[in-house]
This record gives sequence, structure tokens and C-alpha cells, in this order.
Amino acid sequence: MHDTSSSPSQNQKRSGSHALFLRARAVIPGGVNSPVRAFRGVGGEPVFVARAQGPYLFDSDGNRYIDYVGSWGPMILGHAHPEILAAIVEAAQSGTSFGAPTEREVLFAELLCRCVPSMQRVRLVSSGTEATMSALRLARGFTGRHKIVKIDGAYHGHADSLLVAAGSGAATLGIPGSAGVTPGAAQDTLTVSWNDLPAMQRLFAEHRDENGTSTIAAVIVEPVCGNMGCVPPQPGYLQALSQLTRAHDTLLIFDEVMTGFRVAFGGAQALYGVEPDLTCLGKIVGGGLPLAAYGGRADVMERIAPSGPVYQAGTLSGNPLAVAAGMKQIELLMRQPDLYARLERTTAHLGQELASILRSAGIAVTLNQLGSMFTLFFCGEPVLDYSSAKRSDAARFGHFFHALLNRGVYLPPSQFEAAFVSAAHSDAVLDETLDAARAAAHSL
Ligand SMILES: *Cc1c(COP(=O)(O)O)cnc(C)c1O
Repeated sequence: MHDTSSSPSQNQKRSGSHALFLRARAVIPGGVNSPVRAFRGVGGEPVFVARAQGPYLFDSDGNRYIDYVGSWGPMILGHAHPEILAAIVEAAQSGTSFGAPTEREVLFAELLCRCVPSMQRVRLVSSGTEATMSALRLARGFTGRHKIVKIDGAYHGHADSLLVAAGSGAATLGIPGSAGVTPGAAQDTLTVSWNDLPAMQRLFAEHRDENGTSTIAAVIVEPVCGNMGCVPPQPGYLQALSQLTRAHDTLLIFDEVMTGFRVAFGGAQALYGVEPDLTCLGKIVGGGLPLAAYGGRADVMERIAPSGPVYQAGTLSGNPLAVAAGMKQIELLMRQPDLYARLERTTAHLGQELASILRSAGIAVTLNQLGSMFTLFFCGEPVLDYSSAKRSDAARFGHFFHALLNRGVYLPPSQFEAAFVSAAHSDAVLDETLDAARAAAHSL
């Protein structure tokens, strides 16, 4: 169809990105340092970013994009926030790493425990992967049990025992979801469909020892799934999960690496009023620097070395730059108590308008949105779990993604990722996004 849009950026030149991608592929596997950045989910070639400011990314060719990826979650206040930059610079002037404890870490741990009351103790690490991997080791060390339960289609980083995919929505014994993961590492991971409480109950009924004691050390969930696209919990699901795990002395781990300080100030646990035994944080808590954390019940957390026998360590854990950035970001969020309500309103408006633009163009979409997270699934049915998410027309999503990218709007380059709105996305920025979406939908 002839494209009548007059958006100035629709015929972008990306020769700079193209040249960098060719060079990158010669020295970095697939040309990227994390797979989804390579655009395999939408086709085409990645945009190489030169800088970012507020709601915008600028690529190596000087093109500007309205950014709905936000570094995959951390940038809830927009890019290059001046107060966060100043905090990082100030910290750097006193040295970049000591490998010894600092006052800053104490202040930050106190702040995190205050903001997320289920965390009575917290340990800082450098990535979400480290947080979930360590929380699971701790759960196994604390309970003396081996099995863990994860949700089909949920992502908890790339630790071996969590890189497990199920063949179907039914609960099955784990099979490795990546080459290089041994059957041994995967065999103690059980998977079950999201929002399917009866299936979870069956799993608990099946996995008991000869005394009838559960063999499940922990259930780990994203309390709002974000890594199959945004899929919130059904009403009552998290509460029921909490009762079930408690009844079996199994630990409930909320992986709030994405949802912490995203869906609400205290995370999904504050929003739904459910207290997990352990919580994993990352992304937003690092203010855009490599920082993550896991924490929870004091009696469980005190099992970590050097207090207890469960080993976990890190050369750069509690890095002063990362802690300074994270602390400033959380302080800024604390100072704006109405921010989350505003983000919820603007994101609901944006999502509903995008959905109606696509529907007007004859394209079936399902909008899932919670707070400033949303996904437009290119399918007509409700999306409640991974198997319904997979019914989306990913090829069509890819066409829409590129039609928007060519008009200066950067969505996550995969149907199965959540998009994020930041505090820097003003009404004018949202309107510009919708104008681009009208032209993009028209061109499909
Ligand atoms: C991003 C993410 C992780 C992994 O965090 P990294 O810092 O990339 O290792 C784990 N869990 C969830 C829910 C995530 O969204």
C-alpha cells in the first residue's frame, strides 16, 4: 500500500548502524552482548545507540527514537537523569571499587528493607541472574530439598536450573532449554503454566517423599509476568500460591527484577498484598548501573555465608557507583508519591489508543497492561499464560515494529517482551507516538 505519512524520520538512513553490526559480528557472537538485542524476533538489523536523553534514544546515524524499552526496565525516570548522573560522578571521585564494606551499602540496604517490608535482610549482587540463582541456592540450602517450580515461559536470568522450558502448559519434568545445560541441572526444575492453580496444586500433591513431606524447596514466579510479554496474575492467584507454599513449608520467591519499583513503589507484593519469603530485585534498583539484590526473611537470609553455610560472593557486589545510582533513583521515586498513579494513567491511555488504532486497521490485538508495563499481543484472544501468548502473530508484530521504528518509535524488538513507559514520556511524546502508530498501521 502506498504510504502517505509525512513523518520526517520515516525514511531513516541507518548505514552507521549497519556498518557497526558488520564489524560487531566479526568479534562478538551474533554481534550483540545479549541475544534479544539482535532483532531476531522481528527480523532486520539492530539499531546501534550513540546516546540517550529523557524518553529518547539517538542512534549512530543521528536518528531519534521514542524509547519504550528503557534498557529493558531500569530507566523509569528516563535516560540520563541529571541527579542520577551527578550521584554517579560524585561517587566515582571517591574511587570506583574497594572490595570492602562501605557506609553507602548500609544506607542502601536500610532503604531497600524499608521500601520492601518483606525483606528483613538483603544482599547486593550485580545482575538479576545472580539474584535468582543465589535465592534458589539459598532456598535449597534452607529447606534441604532439591526441587524448584518455575512458570512455563517465565524468565529468571540464565542460571542453568532456570533455563528450562516445558513442552506444554501441563506440569512436566524439566528438559533443558539451552544447549550446555545438563539433564542433571534441569531435572529438579518443575514447570507449570502461569495462572493455573489446579496444576500447581497437582504438582504439590505429586512431589512428596515417603513421609508425605514436600520435596519442593521453592516456587519462583514473576508476580506479574513480563518475559512472555506482560501477563498479570488472575485475581487471587498470588494469594492462593502463598497459602499453598506456606502449607508445604516451601519458600515462595518473587522475582521482582522487572516489577520491583515498576508496577508499584514496593513492587508487585505491595500492589497485591502478598508477602513472599524471598524477593529478587534488579533493573530499577540499579538506576541503570549493574546492580541487583535478593532478600527476605531474616531466618532464611542468615543462612548465607558468612553467617551460614550457603555460599555466595561477588568482587563487585555493592559497587559504590551502582549503589549511588540505585539509591538516587529510589530517593527520586520516593519524592514523587503520585508518579505511579500518573504512569498507570498515561500507559493505559497509550495502550488503549494503540490497540484501537490497530483494530481500526483490521488487525486483531489484545492489550495487557499493568502500571507502566504493557504488551500488545497480535492475537484476538485473551492472553493469560505462555501458551496463549504464543498464539500471537509474531511476524505481523515484526512488521508493525519496523513500521514504527522507521517513524522514530522504538518498541521492544520481540512480541514476548513488555514495553515500558517512563516519567519522561510527556503527553506530547505519547501523542507523537500515536501519530507514528496511525501511519504505521496504515502502512501494514
Ligand atoms: C531481566 C530479568 C532477570 C535477569 O536479570 P539480568 O540482570 O539480565 O541478569 C531475571 N528475572 C526477571 C524477571 C527479569 O526481568
